[in-house]
Amino acid sequence: MVELLTFGLRLPRQLMATCPKCLGPLTDDHKCPRGPLRRVSDALATTAIGALSGWVLVLMIDDRPAGALILAAAALGAVLASAVRQAIHGPIR
Ligand SMILES: [Zn+2]
Repeated sequence: MVELLTFGLRLPRQLMATCPKCLGPLTDDHKCPRGPLRRVSDALATTAIGALSGWVLVLMIDDRPAGALILAAAALGAVLASAVRQAIHGPIR
């Protein structure tokens, strides 16, 4: 009975170890979250690659595409690249 009552109190104390870098709980599979600069550059790179792909695709289909078509294709490519990236790696945290 005593074990039953103290079990809930003991568990949080075992998880009290914190990571010296990010101060998060230090579990067996701990991974420090990446810095904000790295996350932003990752997202920008993905968006840029997607936009470039959309632009190139439009240029392959049409020799002299309208500006609005290029813009729309680039935006669509950026959104699709971001969606694929999130599907593979999970949302940017
Ligand atoms: Zn950490």
